[in-house]
Amino acid sequence: MMNSGYRAHPEYRDHEKVVFVEDEGSGLRAVIAIHSTALGPAAGGCRVWRYENEENGLRDALRLSRGMTYKNAIAGLDLGGGKAVIMLGERQTKTDAMMLAFGRAVEELGGQYYTAEDVGVNIADMQLVYTQTRFVAGLSQGQYASGDPSPITARGVFEGIRVACSKVFGTPSLDGVRIAVQGIGNVGWSLCSLLSQSGAELIVTDVDAKRCDRAVEAFGAKPGSFERFHATDCDVYAPCALGGVLTRLSIPQIKAKIVAGAANNQLEREADADALHALGITYMPDFLINAGGILNVAAEIRQVGDPHWLDGKFASLVHRMGFVLDAAADQNISPNRVALDLAEEIIRRGRQI
Ligand code: NAD
Repeated sequence: MMNSGYRAHPEYRDHEKVVFVEDEGSGLRAVIAIHSTALGPAAGGCRVWRYENEENGLRDALRLSRGMTYKNAIAGLDLGGGKAVIMLGERQTKTDAMMLAFGRAVEELGGQYYTAEDVGVNIADMQLVYTQTRFVAGLSQGQYASGDPSPITARGVFEGIRVACSKVFGTPSLDGVRIAVQGIGNVGWSLCSLLSQSGAELIVTDVDAKRCDRAVEAFGAKPGSFERFHATDCDVYAPCALGGVLTRLSIPQIKAKIVAGAANNQLEREADADALHALGITYMPDFLINAGGILNVAAEIRQVGDPHWLDGKFASLVHRMGFVLDAAADQNISPNRVALDLAEEIIRRGRQI
């Protein structure tokens, strides 16, 4: 079902295509948003979430797909930006039939959009999607299968934290650095593991208390306040759960000197990056620091055979994080602004080729 009402949505920014999917048999309700195909087919994961209402699901799809355009551009990939959200009803849970119906919807787009895992979706789900379409990555089997992108995403976030520490504290060493990790899921757990091996002191929280307890036990982490985690007394605040944590209300309460984490769409509004900058807090743009996973996914989509390709792209990504922080310091503007300008420039140039 196509619906053009989305154009009036405040988060709509010239998205190329937004498809609303409803499948009666499985009960699937989904939005697939394609923001841009200027650099190549749109790529971005599929999120399964219980939204309060459809408007919130559409908002998430519009914001996340636009973020993917910037992420893929700044990561140096020949891919555009897209994202899918599957909206669960109050009593619904994710089913195989839903994933199959979602796969058919992706197939109908004929390769304009490639899907993969995001929050609430695992490799087994993507294998099901693969039975309906070849426009899917993050698979466990196949010549170019890249598997779960979370470990490399965590590695990118880890390196991004080191880059930021190097600029702000004068050393990339994390020994004794107090890092507050919010959300100990796939990425958060791998990140905690890397950070604790580097001597960081961890403070953790998760809406799922068991995950938090496991991190306390495994990494000697301290449990933090759930409601006011952003205000934790620490050096680095790493949001690794959901977006929208950096707001007009939360920013003035942040005690960390650095905000650097995996979550997509951490800023409620773009202007919130300027508020962080004005308070002397270094914010590593989310779409830059969390791009490790999409490199993995891109290698699968583009069927890259060169075994050194991924390492090269990863090294360039880490280098770009340093470049963005340096340029922001030179121009006395927020790193987010620098990163957005850089991504837009890459897209403009890509369009001209
Ligand atoms: P996940 O679902 O495995 O983990 C999310 C964790 O956050 C869960 O443990 C959940 O219980 C917890 N959580 C949810 N709401 C919370 C809250 N209010 N406070 C504290 N904890 C809360 O997801 P993931 O794959 O680890 O991804 C985490 C974030 O990173 C997401 O925003 C995702 O979009 C982003 N991201 C992930 C990848 C990847 O490769 N997986 C890549 C780029 C960006």
